[in-house]
Amino acid sequence: MCHIDTKERFILQQISITENPNKKDKPNDNALQFGKTFTDHMFIMDYDKEIGWHDARVVPYQPLAMDPASMVFHYGQTVFEGLKAYRTDRGDVQLFRPTENIARLNRSNARMCIPEIDADTALKGIQTLVDIDRDWVPHLEGTSLYIRPFVIATEAYLGVAPASKYAFMVILSPVGAYYDAGINPVKIAVENEYIRAVKGGTGEAKTAGNYAGSMAAQEKVAALGYAQVLWLDGHEKKYIEEVGSMNIFFKINGKVITPHLSGSILPGVTRKSVIQLLNDWGIAVEERPIALTEVLEASRKGELEEAFGAGTAAVISPIGELFADGESYIINNHKTGDLSKRVYETLTGIQYGRIEDPHQWIVRV
Ligand code: PMP
Repeated sequence: MCHIDTKERFILQQISITENPNKKDKPNDNALQFGKTFTDHMFIMDYDKEIGWHDARVVPYQPLAMDPASMVFHYGQTVFEGLKAYRTDRGDVQLFRPTENIARLNRSNARMCIPEIDADTALKGIQTLVDIDRDWVPHLEGTSLYIRPFVIATEAYLGVAPASKYAFMVILSPVGAYYDAGINPVKIAVENEYIRAVKGGTGEAKTAGNYAGSMAAQEKVAALGYAQVLWLDGHEKKYIEEVGSMNIFFKINGKVITPHLSGSILPGVTRKSVIQLLNDWGIAVEERPIALTEVLEASRKGELEEAFGAGTAAVISPIGELFADGESYIINNHKTGDLSKRVYETLTGIQYGRIEDPHQWIVRV
């Protein structure tokens, strides 16, 4: 991969705090829209080739002044993450598996030739920021504080090469409950024209270009009344990869299967957690290539019992209908399956502190 000077990268940085003197009014928990409102503070840390990552700080949330030649604007050298802070019934604020997101951020960094970030500093930065803005973590059932860490190349240079300057930032946004009235199955459509990622490409990394490249397909299926795109592999358009920006699981004839991490799939934290929970319950999960034809055949034979997407935003998103090759395949009569429900209840139970956390997934703020 890239040659990156690793100087100082494992030293836990001191974080300075500048409090915002002009605190904003907080939105009503009932009226939260995803990603539209931001809290009073943000975290920033800079990278310079000469000194490594430095100047970790929490400052008032503010616009950035950037050189128009900043490399992120031209060649998209950037990565991001998404995780949440949850408020428990006791009023505590807690994070779900943040070290997994930080590890993935660093894997994305490596792929995009961005220097590694000290994991302890990243976690401390997130905790310090969420702590100072903890009153922004909403209280209503199902609401949370979305955490968006990201890295951008800030060097002003138009050559196509890894930048020598970066900024790592974290911003926070209170978000409403994903489901208003219990989890609800969605309709999805197979995408035969566009592809999301190929092996050897950047699909495994959480980098902006993957999302920019997915929008045309999402717009296309949305216009036809489908909620998400079912992505097939980029080489043969034969194997199922992901659904929208979620990993996918099927229950076929009593067996749970999910596409293996082939190199073009984003390794989801929710995916990993679902596999662990199912294993805890004595249910083996097959991680292997799944051809679309296998799923359609199972549906025709009445063996496709459940299908669901898994990701931070919805946790579990049951699939009630799959449109493929001009035909609609109805799954479990458009109802949420028992397994989907059990996984959803357990994961959200752990996240909101309602049920025991058997794997030390929770990190308190
Ligand atoms: N796939 C893609 C393409 C995604 O953007 C996401 C959301 N990060 C996921 C899967 C699910 O990952 P996670 O469970 O970590 O949210």
